[in-house]
Amino acid sequence: MSLLGPAEIRRLAERLAVRPTKRLGQNFVIDGGTVRRIVRVAELRPDDVVIEIGPGLGSLTLALLPEVRGVVAVEIDPVLAAQLPLTVAEHAPELAGRLTVVPADALRVLPGDLPGERPTALVANLPYNVSVPVVLHLLETLPSLRRVLVMVQAEVADRLAAAPGSKTYGIPSLKAAWYADVRRAGPVGRTVFWPVPNVDSGLVAMTRRKPPVTRASREEVFAAVDAAFAQRRKTLRAALASWAGTAAAAEHALRAAGVDPVKRGEQLTIDDFARIAENRM
Ligand code: SAM
Repeated sequence: MSLLGPAEIRRLAERLAVRPTKRLGQNFVIDGGTVRRIVRVAELRPDDVVIEIGPGLGSLTLALLPEVRGVVAVEIDPVLAAQLPLTVAEHAPELAGRLTVVPADALRVLPGDLPGERPTALVANLPYNVSVPVVLHLLETLPSLRRVLVMVQAEVADRLAAAPGSKTYGIPSLKAAWYADVRRAGPVGRTVFWPVPNVDSGLVAMTRRKPPVTRASREEVFAAVDAAFAQRRKTLRAALASWAGTAAAAEHALRAAGVDPVKRGEQLTIDDFARIAENRM
């Protein structure tokens, strides 16, 4: 089976009159080594069903299909969505039965929109402007997802995988940690894309974990996280005052959770926020 190289990508784009847009984060991978690396790092099993967001012209899809039972490819651009089965039929006809294309916005996709078996892994070169909300939305709506391997902007990879206390630690790190253990899985240069983006990229790997044990709902915990980081420089006692009602109520929730009220949000784990949320009066 042949992967898509630079000449093939350009030819396809020209034939389809595709002009890659920034709005849809359309930077296509033109390097076979990169898609093979993504598949290798994803550590897929033959019985995995992969959900791929933004398959584009099919670079990564073609590398995924031989490795797994099925690929459900969710693509917002109707021209690219319509072309993908044809590209697969041409390059890997024996694997065409493993592909399902869902022409949809990944931010709105629900389990009922996905035919066939529930996906067990998310593997994608994500559209960079919506990468964090897409990952969080899919982890929330598809509990069958056990593993994630995504390519995102390098800065976003740092944020997602950051540990408490680091400069890049914040809302994406905490919300991702609700669902998964997250780690950086390697850098990616700019020249593997067409068009070449003006940012570096990085791989992020996630393994689903059990969410923190708490009487608060996920929404309540995330509301506490959002409040703490809306005023990042303030102490938690001050930053959580309007979330809790008053500064005294915030202090009560923090102390009941065993958290020093003069700390800042960037010093806490998602488990700390889960305890704070359940102690809000
Ligand atoms: N996977 C391809 C590759 O590696 O060459 C393309 C990756 S490109 C960075 C992102 C892709 O996501 C584009 O094909 C774009 O049309 C698609 N896309 C953008 N926003 C989307 C959304 N909200 N839902 C689904 N697909 C989206």
